[in-house]
Amino acid sequence: MTIVSTNAPVLPGGTIGILGGGQLGRMFAIAARRMGYRVHALDPVQDGPAGQVADVEWVAPYEDIDVARKFAAAVDVVTFEFENVPAETLAAVAELRPVFPSPKVLDTCRHRLKEKQFLKGNGFPVAAFEPVRSADELRAALLVLGTPAILKTAEFGYDGKGQVRINDAAFADEAFGRMGRTLGVLEAFVPFACELSVIVARSRAGDVVAFEVAENRHEKHVLDVSLVPARVPEETRVRARELACAIARALEVVGVLGVELFCMPSGDLVVNELAPRPHNSGHFSFDACMTSQFEQQLRAVCGLPLGDPTLLRPVAMANLMGELWSSGEPLWANAAAFSEVKIHLYGKIEARPGRKMGHLVAMADTVEQAEARVLAARAALTG
Ligand code: AMP
Repeated sequence: MTIVSTNAPVLPGGTIGILGGGQLGRMFAIAARRMGYRVHALDPVQDGPAGQVADVEWVAPYEDIDVARKFAAAVDVVTFEFENVPAETLAAVAELRPVFPSPKVLDTCRHRLKEKQFLKGNGFPVAAFEPVRSADELRAALLVLGTPAILKTAEFGYDGKGQVRINDAAFADEAFGRMGRTLGVLEAFVPFACELSVIVARSRAGDVVAFEVAENRHEKHVLDVSLVPARVPEETRVRARELACAIARALEVVGVLGVELFCMPSGDLVVNELAPRPHNSGHFSFDACMTSQFEQQLRAVCGLPLGDPTLLRPVAMANLMGELWSSGEPLWANAAAFSEVKIHLYGKIEARPGRKMGHLVAMADTVEQAEARVLAARAALTG
């Protein structure tokens, strides 16, 4: 496979292609258009969140290599917001235009086993894990790691999908079946004190900068609320950022990387997973930082210097899931009455339970006040 390489920056006025048409692509497109770029988005579904704000929306299955080639030929550089674009499509695109992050980075990060092996091989702290290809291997792995343990699919898992918690080795067969009888990774259960994340960006020139650390709470395995700065000691936040920067350097990623961390009661950090793109827990940066994670991705993939990620004010972000629509349209005027709350909606037509429809961001003098404000605004949406 020939991968096009060029060091020439793509300057404002240039055209960026984005593979994937969801909310991450939408916010990326908003950042790009603000800086005078044109944006093409490729996604299988018409009128998607990114397509609504892109200059051009290409609608085709990701497997359609002919369309992917035409899409690539129409742009100057390609990035993505969706990791599971087939490798053949990515290869066809990479033959025509530079792709950032590189297909190699994507290959590592979308495969849980490869990602864990990369992290462990480079000396980064991860939960003890064992690859699992059969129920017998699962039983053997449970003997090594003990219970509770978490079985995860190697591929196509996100937001807790494809994950089974095993409390008793007697349920190994059932757990392997529930995971889909496919290649998996068994992870030791991590008794963490809290979950953190760091969004880090690495430029084409190799410069690395990290955003302030987010403290994340999940509901049903999906991110619910992020508080920034995380309420952990300053020294832990510094270590978390240094760890994320070291991972971005070792991975040689060009673009933005979301690093999910478990923080132990001792303050030790364990890497949970990596996302080689903007991350839900970095949405606060759109309103609360000098440079957002989306502008940072834009700068990195275009070969520009990175922006200043300084946090301007303590901030809290709350996701708006489809459940909020269960009794009809949320009461937007109620949330708008909070003058320090920003409403972000992704333009998704159908609200389904579990679907991320938008988020609210609140700023305040302290992170506790920001949290109270964002939760009050979200509660006001349903009266
Ligand atoms: P993931 O899809 O790997 O990000 O996992 C989703 C959520 O499941 C995490 O944010 C944690 O809350 C929980 N989780 C995942 N792996 C572990 C683990 N090894 N130990 C404890 N909790 C976990």
